[in-house]
Amino acid sequence: MIGVKLTNKGYRVVINLEEWALTPRELRRAMLLHELAHVIRGDCLRVKAEDATSADALLFNVAADAVINRTLPSLCKAPFGVVNPEALATEVGLSPATMTAAMAYTLMKNKLGELDKDKLQGVLQRVCFPADEAVMQAREPQPMEDLADIFPLPIHLRTWVAQRVQWTTSSESMAQDVKGHEGDEGDTAVAHAKDTKELKEAAKQDNMQDALPQTPQRGSGAGNGKGSAWTPNQAKIVALCERVRDFVRVNGEAVRQRNRSYRRQGRWMLYPSRPYTLYTHLCPLPGPLRLHVSALGGLGRCCKVGQG
Ligand SMILES: [Zn+2]
Repeated sequence: MIGVKLTNKGYRVVINLEEWALTPRELRRAMLLHELAHVIRGDCLRVKAEDATSADALLFNVAADAVINRTLPSLCKAPFGVVNPEALATEVGLSPATMTAAMAYTLMKNKLGELDKDKLQGVLQRVCFPADEAVMQAREPQPMEDLADIFPLPIHLRTWVAQRVQWTTSSESMAQDVKGHEGDEGDTAVAHAKDTKELKEAAKQDNMQDALPQTPQRGSGAGNGKGSAWTPNQAKIVALCERVRDFVRVNGEAVRQRNRSYRRQGRWMLYPSRPYTLYTHLCPLPGPLRLHVSALGGLGRCCKVGQG
């Protein structure tokens, strides 16, 4: 019914007009805040528009939705069945209060293994609130007289949305509301920076900063857990994830070349024991490493350790 996409000219808030006309004011407000949170978090940058319906992108969308919906209790009562933060947190064994989208996604991928649409459907059934068909059928037309009705947000945020709305008649589910970015990645990154700057400014003028939760950025917390609400153990695992990922990105090709050369010489291969030893030393985890094997296995799979 609603979604966000990023083009090289900036964000578009795509809304189904017929559905919107049947949506009560309070729910319109919560749904708009949900989409604005995706914008602030930069979720469209993670996925190309043509891949936005892939199982991977949808799984990340579910994880991001859970984290956003945690801050929007009125959206959780929507009759169309949105992602339930508590259910997803239970599914991955994290605390709903401190779960991040990246962690929930990584742990879900670890748990599900090879991802396909059937597995994803099962996940959606388990982690979404049940839809209420009776309420959906009984919906009545709601006021659409002026912009304050149509976009029930404070004036600056309302203006930001009104300038970017794109009405549609296509009906797509809430589970796919991040529609990704279209076109050249450099251009869309510039457009994202410009539009989020304006959005943050609008939120500040409306005194609504707290209503748009941000994802911790690299360098300001995502990599080292500083400034985030993770438990110390979660922060260590995420920091380890970043380090392994960086190591693999930088050294993957060098290690492959070295191993090929060692094989030719009949010598032992050293990889992949080294990064784990190195980085658990730099980022000590509490207790024996075997307690973290499951999380590390997921990180390794995500990073495709040894394959670049
Ligand atoms: Zn969403």
